[in-house]
Amino acid sequence: MADPALNETRIAGTKIALLQGRTMEFIVNSSLGTQWLENAAAALSVTPTCPRCKGAIPSEDINVANNVAFCRHCDLSHRLSDLTSGTTVDEDIDTSRPPDGTWFQRNAAGTVIGATHRSLSRAPGLLFLSVFWNGVICVFVLIALGSTLKHLGLSIPHWFPSPNTDGKLMPLGMTLILWIFLTPFVAIGLAMLGAFLSSLMGRTELQVQGNQCVLFTGIGSLGRRQRFSTFDVKDVRIEDKRWVDRNGRSRQSAQIVIDTKDKPISFGSMLTNERRRFFAGCVKKELVRR
Ligand SMILES: [Zn+2]
Repeated sequence: MADPALNETRIAGTKIALLQGRTMEFIVNSSLGTQWLENAAAALSVTPTCPRCKGAIPSEDINVANNVAFCRHCDLSHRLSDLTSGTTVDEDIDTSRPPDGTWFQRNAAGTVIGATHRSLSRAPGLLFLSVFWNGVICVFVLIALGSTLKHLGLSIPHWFPSPNTDGKLMPLGMTLILWIFLTPFVAIGLAMLGAFLSSLMGRTELQVQGNQCVLFTGIGSLGRRQRFSTFDVKDVRIEDKRWVDRNGRSRQSAQIVIDTKDKPISFGSMLTNERRRFFAGCVKKELVRR
C-alpha cells in the first residue's frame, strides 16, 4: 500500500479491533466512510469526557459505528464526534470574565451576549482582495455607466473611461448585456467589501428580554436580525467542519447552531474559536432550560 492515508486507516482499524472486537474490524476494513474513521481515531487517542459531569466515558460505553458516547453517571448519550472534535459547548463558563472581544451584560432590561468579528489577521487579506477585485470591476462599471448616460443624452465626466468604440457609441442592447453580465461580479465585490468592513467592526450580539431573543449579525446598526422565543430553544451546539481543499490545505469552518422547534439558527462563523466558545457557552447557559 503506497497510499499513506490507507495505511493510517489500517492502523486505526487494528486499534479499534483490539478494543472492540472483530465486528469493528470488519466495518473498518470495508472502509464505510473516512468521516467516522477520523472520529474513531480521535476517540481512541483522546478519552471523551461527558460535557455535563466532566467524567471520562470508558470505551465500553462508546459506540463508534453509531457515533454515540453514553455517560452512565448522567444517564445521557452524546454524539461522539461532538465530544472528540472539541466542539461541545461548555456552559460552565465564567461570564464575569469574557475573553478579549466579547461581552456579557446583565441588567434589569435583560441580557446581552456579544462578540466582535474584529480580526487583524484576516483584515489585510480581505482589504487587498476587495481593492483588487473592485478596482477591476469598477472600470467596466464606469464604461457601462458612461454608455448609459450617453444614451440618456446626459454628459459624462471627462475622466470616465470612454464608452465609445471606433468613435461610435456602444449600442443600447450591448450596454444592457454589459450591465447584466456585470451584476454578479459587482455583488461579489460588495460581499468582499462587506467581509472586510466586518473584519474591522462587525459584531454578533444576542439580546434576551424576558422570553424574546434578538440575534444581530452586522456592522453598526446595519445587519440581519433574527427573532425567536426562549421557549423554542432546544439546544445550543458548535458545528465544526474540517476538510482538505483541492490545494491540500486543511480548512475549517465552525458556527454556532441554536436548535429551535422550527429550524436551527446558525451564526458565528466570523468569530474566532475563543469568542465562539464563550458566546455559545453564554447562550447555552442563558437559554437551555433543564
Ligand atoms: Zn456525565
